[in-house]
Amino acid sequence: MSEPADTRDLMPGPGPVSLYVHVPFCVLKCAYCDFHSAPLPAEPGIADHFAWAVAEGAAHWAALGALDDVVSIYVGGGTPTTLGESLVTLLDGIRDCARVRAGAEVTVESNPDTTDPATAARLVASGVTRFSLGVQSFDDEVLRTLGRCHDAARAARAATELASTGAHLSLDLMCGVPGQTLASWRDTLERAIATGAGHVSVYPLAVEHGTVLADRLASGAIGEPDPDLAAEMMALAEALLGEAGLARYEVASYARAGERAVHNSGYWTGRPYLGIGPSAASMVSAETFAAAVRCEAWGDPGVAGIGRTVTELPDGAARVRFTRSADTVAFLRKPVGPPEDVEFLTAPEAAAEDAMLGLRLAEGITDRLAEEAGACEALAGLAAQGLVEHAGGRWRVTPAGWLLGNEVFAAVWNAGARRGLA
Ligand code: SF4
Repeated sequence: MSEPADTRDLMPGPGPVSLYVHVPFCVLKCAYCDFHSAPLPAEPGIADHFAWAVAEGAAHWAALGALDDVVSIYVGGGTPTTLGESLVTLLDGIRDCARVRAGAEVTVESNPDTTDPATAARLVASGVTRFSLGVQSFDDEVLRTLGRCHDAARAARAATELASTGAHLSLDLMCGVPGQTLASWRDTLERAIATGAGHVSVYPLAVEHGTVLADRLASGAIGEPDPDLAAEMMALAEALLGEAGLARYEVASYARAGERAVHNSGYWTGRPYLGIGPSAASMVSAETFAAAVRCEAWGDPGVAGIGRTVTELPDGAARVRFTRSADTVAFLRKPVGPPEDVEFLTAPEAAAEDAMLGLRLAEGITDRLAEEAGACEALAGLAAQGLVEHAGGRWRVTPAGWLLGNEVFAAVWNAGARRGLA
């Protein structure tokens, strides 16, 4: 699996695309989760029905020529492995209509409680190359706070089971959890390293409005997360994972050589992506979007919810981001339909977006992209604060800047976005 050696300017041309599938089912709702997910309805055949709906969605984009060169597929959610064997059917349905590049990365997200060795082996036999396992912690107390429905022992077993399939393995870990100590975090990192996983993602806990965790914090049932401790934990992750050969290549991502996530790297380098499933997001060229708007399946005229027809695409729109509604029943009834939210970006705005996302990567961005994004002045200001540095014709975020990532990314985006659509 080749690594993206650079950002946007070295990525392939407009043809290659990534495909994301959102599976909105989970065993239980975690306390911190605000993703579109709910328990799989106890309806006979529902998993196969969902697989059929995804195949319909893929066939729609394939008919428009948008899936002629698929470089990565990522089945996320939710917990895709709640679908069991129907997940194999889902992937077969995509392959039947899309042109998936030889050697494409095909990732399936799994959780310890739904990891089944026999299904995992079947998935690998049908082309899955990588599993992303939601471990979060190897500390049972932390897992309880997060409302996860597995314990640390089950997580370790699931990692072993997935690794034994021969597929690449990535683990998701979470730090900054109320009650989590530095010693507990160190133990989690060490146990994650011991699994032999080639990729680890580390996220500081974000408390989202409306979640069980937010309510428990508001009621005082648990203490507030400590941002300084979370920053210390991120630094410890970088040190321990780095020593173990997992180099930090993105704000939250660590990989051994050859193990960078191809799919996720596309999000940081401006590669178009199509999302299928309720709440799935897509980002394509204005031309691809216009072709979809013209098709009957999206209705006539234009796109519901935004009141525009194709002839009314804003002048200068170069890129379009859009999201399907977070309505699983509607998706199962009508897998192909207009998106709910649509955002048009001009070429300078698209460049600003690529610059902002490219700065998440250790390689940073080129002078040329910074210029296209109109972000040179903002970057110089950030450099004066020690948050970015400039060397060898590239702008990179410093370790101090990564700790204040949102500030850095917002400054770059705001600089470019000022030159957006009138
Ligand atoms: S497993 Fe993931 S998607 Fe499902 S409820 Fe938990 S955090 Fe949300």
